[in-house]
Amino acid sequence: MNTVEKLIEVFRRFPSVGPKQAERFAMYVMRSNPIEINELIEAIVDTKANVKQCKKCFNYTADDICDICSDDKRDRGLLCVIENPFDLIAIEKTKTYNGLYYILGSYLLPHPHKNEFDERVEFLKKRIIDEGIKEVIIALNTTTEGQATSIYIKESISNFVSKISRIAFGVPLGADIDYIDEFTLAYALRGRTSLDK
Ligand SMILES: [Zn+2]
Repeated sequence: MNTVEKLIEVFRRFPSVGPKQAERFAMYVMRSNPIEINELIEAIVDTKANVKQCKKCFNYTADDICDICSDDKRDRGLLCVIENPFDLIAIEKTKTYNGLYYILGSYLLPHPHKNEFDERVEFLKKRIIDEGIKEVIIALNTTTEGQATSIYIKESISNFVSKISRIAFGVPLGADIDYIDEFTLAYALRGRTSLDK
């Protein structure tokens, strides 16, 4: 294997990267100047050396506790359960949520990190009790795995918190009703909200 082939092989280890995309990444490296390449290397080394997981919510952070968990202005009775740190970024971008987060890291279902998942659920219960969480919002994907995990989480925590809600799924903005599949439409109907009079 020559040097370029080795580089392509390395890029192929990235999630969702196929052979063609790996080749394009390698091409980018070959065309980049030394400054750009150093930036790339430094960003990777720096991230690996300095970024760790928050001890409360498992978000990425440079400190033991992340900025969100240590922010006193946030609603400390509200906890949103999500799968990964990118979901947190997406929700933060909406600027409509002011509570705390809890990152599961994976879904229920047999997988190599089953013990890790169980530990996360146990730690979630502990957090709810220790911090007196009043409402848990479950915001997991609408996939089969996501929905199975939502039900499992709800059952696991129902004795420890008085209110459990789920984000509403349904009709995308700007969509035609008759183009939406029946499952999405059924979800949208079940998750309907009343209109203010
Ligand atoms: Zn945190």
